[in-house]
Amino acid sequence: MLYFKIMKIRIENLRDGSNHWEETVAPDELELDTNSFKEMVKVELDIEKRSGKITISISVSSNGSYICDRCGEEFSKKISDKYLVVFIKRESPLPEEAPGDDLRSYQPGQRELDITTDVRDAMLLTMPLKMLCKDDCKGLCSKCGANLNYDECICKTG
Ligand SMILES: [Zn+2]
Ligand SMILES: [Zn+2]
Repeated sequence: MLYFKIMKIRIENLRDGSNHWEETVAPDELELDTNSFKEMVKVELDIEKRSGKITISISVSSNGSYICDRCGEEFSKKISDKYLVVFIKRESPLPEEAPGDDLRSYQPGQRELDITTDVRDAMLLTMPLKMLCKDDCKGLCSKCGANLNYDECICKTG
């Protein structure tokens, strides 16, 4: 069993070789923007522990809430992404090591690995490039403002 405190992995609870863990966290616990991320985030971890090296593959999935660039309606979209981080055991931290780096260190005697930033970064990578409720969103009429996905536009007929 692993032990999470937000997103911390207790090293002594990892067995050598493969470990798998699933956890559900609230978006605000990851300090994500709760306008875009309203639903619980599923986090799956595949952790490979070898002597002196811990490789963590992070998979995140949830539903994102966005505003369509064309029609202005809020829409929800399934999102998922993967992120890989490697921790190596060293006497001292790596030069200029920072949270979220994909290569980090842990010191002998260190009890926990904090992957909160990595999980948050994985979620931020899920942001769609195009904010469209659907690929063929018809948008709004520039004259009357009708949402052309639902409404007959009076401008066209009139
Ligand atoms: Zn739209
Ligand atoms: Zn119109």
